Amino acid sequence: MRFSKDIEKIALKIINGERISSDDCLKLLEHNNLSEMFYLANIIREKRYGSFTTFSVNRHINYSNICQNKCLFCAFRKEENSKEARRLSIDSILKIVDEIRNYPYLEIHITGGLDPNFSFDDALTLVKKIKEIKKEAIIKAFTMVELDYFAKTSGLKDVEVLKRLKEAGISSFPGGGAEIFSPRIRKKICPLKIDGKRWLELSKKAHKLGIPTNATMLYGVGETEKEIVQHLDKLRSLQDETSGFMSFIPLLFQKENTPLKKLREVALAEQLKLYAVSRIFLDNIPHIKNHWVMSGLKAAEIYQWCGVDDLEGTVFEERIGHEGGAKTPIGMTKEAIEKIIKAANRIPVERDGLYNRVKKIGAA
Ligand code: SF4
Repeated sequence: MRFSKDIEKIALKIINGERISSDDCLKLLEHNNLSEMFYLANIIREKRYGSFTTFSVNRHINYSNICQNKCLFCAFRKEENSKEARRLSIDSILKIVDEIRNYPYLEIHITGGLDPNFSFDDALTLVKKIKEIKKEAIIKAFTMVELDYFAKTSGLKDVEVLKRLKEAGISSFPGGGAEIFSPRIRKKICPLKIDGKRWLELSKKAHKLGIPTNATMLYGVGETEKEIVQHLDKLRSLQDETSGFMSFIPLLFQKENTPLKKLREVALAEQLKLYAVSRIFLDNIPHIKNHWVMSGLKAAEIYQWCGVDDLEGTVFEERIGHEGGAKTPIGMTKEAIEKIIKAANRIPVERDGLYNRVKKIGAA
């Protein structure tokens, strides 16, 4: 393939398996020839995973939508006295887990708001009791934002919080709460939330204890291309130190029911480019995952040709993106996910919550 003059050298680096710089990354984000970008991202994707796209059978559980932070982009959060406030008891969560206990290779994904009535002890009890119901379940629970809250409210040191969760049965931590690290944007959209430095610090501590995590980036909230590169660069630098991130998941801002409705829509072409450039730049993060809940099902097919090798799983019941107006189903069957993968002419492979492949489903 002949590349445009301005990215010719960068393209050569990518083809030769060399690392690209932050300046290169910015050039790619500013470059408008999408087919070149997709081609380059796909080389890396196929070198690593061939035509396989993985997914997991997972169940999302949001224990509470009551939150002390007041992030402006969040339609999920409710005030304690609101009619829509919803806090699940530990028993009701255990009932949900009990109903799905027969799924093999189940991943349980638990997150919630910073709820003063959900303590660190509750978190530990919940994890231990889920393990009693399904010992082999992989529990991915509590973002860095919640972990910071547990440390503050329990008075325990970070490492103690992380260790106790690990002993209780946590397998990994989800990547939410990173938003975009830019202090300029955070000041506008989530002034009360922990800053990017703290998010990275907790991720590092988790990695050092041998607990893998994911990384995310919220986009469509007024960020510049430079701020995207800075975010990606911070993730790549930490990963060089710890190798603890399993995947990177770009999250498209869902603006319905938020005061940020006036922010411009991100064109599909820009979204696809962001995935492709992320795949190219984050050479040390194994997986690029598409969260179909927010990006849409049709786009999920295309992403698999723009660097994505992993799709969000069955989910069963997603609340956070849907409160923000996501038009996708609140959950999907395994067959429906396989259909999206096959429609993209890729081969679906079920994985567990730690990215171990469990079986090949069938050829596309
Ligand atoms: S994004 Fe998280 S921390 Fe922010 S208000 Fe929503 S639930 Fe709370």
